Amino acid sequence: MVGSGIAGLCAALDAAPRARVALLTKGSLDDGCSRWAQGGIAAALGDDDSSEQHYQDTVAAGRGLCHPEAVRVLVEEGPARIRQLVDWGVGFDTQDGRLLLAREAAHSRARVVHARGDGTGLEVETALIARLRKTDVTVVEHAHVDRLLVDAMGRCAGVDWWDVARGVEHRFTAPAVLLATGGAARLWPNSTNPASATGDGVALAFAVGAEVAGMEFVQFHPTALAVEGAPRFLISEAMRGEGAVVVNASGRRFLFDADSRGELAGRDVVSRAIWDELRDSGSSQVYLDCSRVDSVSTRFPAIHRMCAEHGIDIARELVPIAPAAHYVIGGVRSDLCGATSVAGLYACGEVASSGVHGANRLASNSLLESLVFGHRAAVSALHDTAEAPRTTVAEPVLDVAAGTDDADAWQRMSAALWEGAGIVRSASGLQQALDVCREAAVAGAATRSGRRLEAAATTASLVCEAALRREETRGCHIRSDHPRSSDEWHGDLVMHSHRGAQLDHHI
Ligand SMILES: Cc1cc2nc3c(=O)[nH]c(=O)nc-3n(C[C@H](O)[C@H](O)[C@H](O)COP(=O)(O)OP(=O)(O)OC[C@H]3O[C@@H](n4cnc5c(N)ncnc54)[C@H](O)[C@@H]3O)c2cc1C
Repeated sequence: MVGSGIAGLCAALDAAPRARVALLTKGSLDDGCSRWAQGGIAAALGDDDSSEQHYQDTVAAGRGLCHPEAVRVLVEEGPARIRQLVDWGVGFDTQDGRLLLAREAAHSRARVVHARGDGTGLEVETALIARLRKTDVTVVEHAHVDRLLVDAMGRCAGVDWWDVARGVEHRFTAPAVLLATGGAARLWPNSTNPASATGDGVALAFAVGAEVAGMEFVQFHPTALAVEGAPRFLISEAMRGEGAVVVNASGRRFLFDADSRGELAGRDVVSRAIWDELRDSGSSQVYLDCSRVDSVSTRFPAIHRMCAEHGIDIARELVPIAPAAHYVIGGVRSDLCGATSVAGLYACGEVASSGVHGANRLASNSLLESLVFGHRAAVSALHDTAEAPRTTVAEPVLDVAAGTDDADAWQRMSAALWEGAGIVRSASGLQQALDVCREAAVAGAATRSGRRLEAAATTASLVCEAALRREETRGCHIRSDHPRSSDEWHGDLVMHSHRGAQLDHHI
């Protein structure tokens, strides 16, 4: 198991009773995006809701590219996975013994379970880590996986990992490897993601011949805190679900110019509308007015605290906001069982491209995807472990000095991504960004200490290349030089290290 966000933790807990499991993670156990999730987890649990309704909302958000069978699995198995979390000790917010359900943008029902108000990820990670500690799963923190091993039959057979503290390379062999390494949105300079989200998993899998899909679809969250010197802290979508409104410097609710749903329109629509407003006004922020949200400081305590630290009282004052890179929809292509195109290699969570999000992810569906497909991937991987010898051995293979990555190359790549592969793209900008990312990959490959840069730059190059190829605007992929969707592009753009990029029309 590689990664200790919600996907890796759930898969490890599911597999632990039936196999020897090692869980490697490059930082501390809670360093992924999961710990930061605010809004919650979507599932059709309300009396007025149904999995069919959740299906319809998800598919509508996905702009024609969701895989119907994957979405069915997501929405139908979601409620059982939420119940499993409750059994595992996750304390969701309740009222009179019933789970509280919030409404978020582009959901037609209130269906988002949450915990600690806006601290869902923290509660889930805390409960799952506590449970993991009681199992005999071998946990290795600060273990940076930098290569997947493939045997003579082309089957994934383990990983090489770098002991960050001691500067030593190790090897684990295993009959199945499950990648749960999260996303890549931290590659952009304005990002809601923590430092761990640099797209390692996509590069690792791509290097051993796994198919990668949907990399052009990067979701920019419309409402990240935009205060000079402050991190791009997320201001949850749930705020808008509960009445917060977006206004420009003149106090006008301009989102209605773009969509009659205003603040409750899909993420792609709201981000684009804010981007256009910023461009037209020359301003670097618009504002969120939270004064209509009931008990805002207790319902959203983390957001209230973070804004207060930067001198903003969200109950009374406007919160400056701007879009920031948030979620990479594309990833390692995986089937309904989490299997990738490389035998013995599974992927789940944000690193995977399972087909549930299409061209635009519905809010709060990603934690759900991690739960549902993490469980499925663990069950499938257990078949591999049953068939192969149960040996998980660790052996040091290489002892090299730790080095530092090239900070300038990271910075150039990051800036190029924001400029060329940001919210609104064009062929020339994408080509420039692609050139910079490819240069960074070459620079990274030249040294042992540059491997992290090489992995990040490989993933970033795949984003640029896919975005360059898809000559249309669809969901969160917006091309100023191809402003409309085209039937010609109805399908997944699948990339492979030897076969190149191909459009798969099977949806
Ligand atoms: C601020 C914020 C708020 C969000 N709110 C919501 C929400 O309310 N609802 C929702 O559904 N989604 C939300 N999301 C998205 C959601 O949190 C993520 O998509 C989800 O947590 C991904 O889980 P994961 O387990 O796949 O990855 P992560 O939680 O990111 O975990 C990845 C793990 O992989 C490890 N790793 C990475 N590379 C390596 C490597 N080379 N070697 C070893 N280990 C490695 C990392 O250290 C980490 O432990 C939010 C995201 C952010 C950033």
